[in-house]
Amino acid sequence: MKYPEITIRKKTIAENAEKVVSLCAASGIDIWGVTKGVSAHPEVASAMLEGGCAGIADSRMDNIRKMRLFGIREPMMLLRIPMPGEIREVAAMADVCLISMPESVLMLDKSCEEEQREVGIIVMVDLGDLREGIWPDEVGIMAEAVAKCRSIRCMGVGSNLGCLSGVLPTVTNLSLLVSIAREFEAILGYPLEVISGGATSSLLLVEDGSMPRGVNQLRIGEAILLGTDVSGGRAIPYLARDGIRISAEVIEVRSKPSMPVGETGSDAFGHKPVFEDRGVRRRAIVAIGRQDTRPEGLVPVDRGISIIGSSSDHLTLDVEELPGPISPGDVVAFSPDYGATLAATTSAYVRTRIIGS
Ligand SMILES: *Cc1c(COP(=O)(O)O)cnc(C)c1O
Repeated sequence: MKYPEITIRKKTIAENAEKVVSLCAASGIDIWGVTKGVSAHPEVASAMLEGGCAGIADSRMDNIRKMRLFGIREPMMLLRIPMPGEIREVAAMADVCLISMPESVLMLDKSCEEEQREVGIIVMVDLGDLREGIWPDEVGIMAEAVAKCRSIRCMGVGSNLGCLSGVLPTVTNLSLLVSIAREFEAILGYPLEVISGGATSSLLLVEDGSMPRGVNQLRIGEAILLGTDVSGGRAIPYLARDGIRISAEVIEVRSKPSMPVGETGSDAFGHKPVFEDRGVRRRAIVAIGRQDTRPEGLVPVDRGISIIGSSSDHLTLDVEELPGPISPGDVVAFSPDYGATLAATTSAYVRTRIIGS
């Protein structure tokens, strides 16, 4: 066995997907499974599709190409508004593309014509999170660009919340999205198929039955992968949270003082760590660090272990309260958050192992 490794339980991903899909189906909402959190591992994409997702969405064309090469033929959506330099490939390979610039719409239309292939677009509207999207008063300008196109299909409008500024989805801001869709339809003269109402953070509105009528699509990553909703600050009660684990091997165990010896400056990453004097305590070092994952996003699975700190390649643990023995060669498991999962699957130093493929 080679560590560090990230393990992904395929069955758990499929079951979480199935639960999200059936919850949302009852409100007439389709789910697209978002794979960017696991660097688009094709087995994870397959699990999401097994769970009933309508398609797979990812923010990178590299990931979409990888999944296509693996043999996934279901619809694929590019989540990040396209780089002009990749629009040709979007036209050749994606089925749906989120988009926000009129220039990009025209470029994509031209490329679709050249590729003789139709790509659906979802026009992103900024409802206040201040990342991508047209401002609500730009509907006319955007509709004008869309009306000039012959080869793309304008599928609808969408929004992203809870990402850059942490603005939460609400009945108010998603109702605004629905009314913007109606405005678009009035200018374009045909009905829109899709109102894409956000990501994991929008699930809460579906759960409590307050999702505005008209929203019929969500793009879900975190809930399916981890069973959590970080922007809502909650564990999602009906989903499993043990589908993904990161494990690392112990390389040193020693009792040491809890206060550093000597004058202290900054740590290896420019932060000034603070310490509490808890006397001499048993510590363990595991061979994982910032080059492998985002240590702040790890929670030890076993009780009696807590994280003291990390550097590029070392993670130091307090194991004083661990009931049993621990020694070099033992493996410590962690539950990762979205950022830690994203970093681990991106790192060249972490092996991804799928359980149950
Ligand atoms: C990442 C992303 C999602 C999925 O977000 P989760 O919080 O993981 O569900 C949806 N839409 C867009 C545009 C994204 O970038």
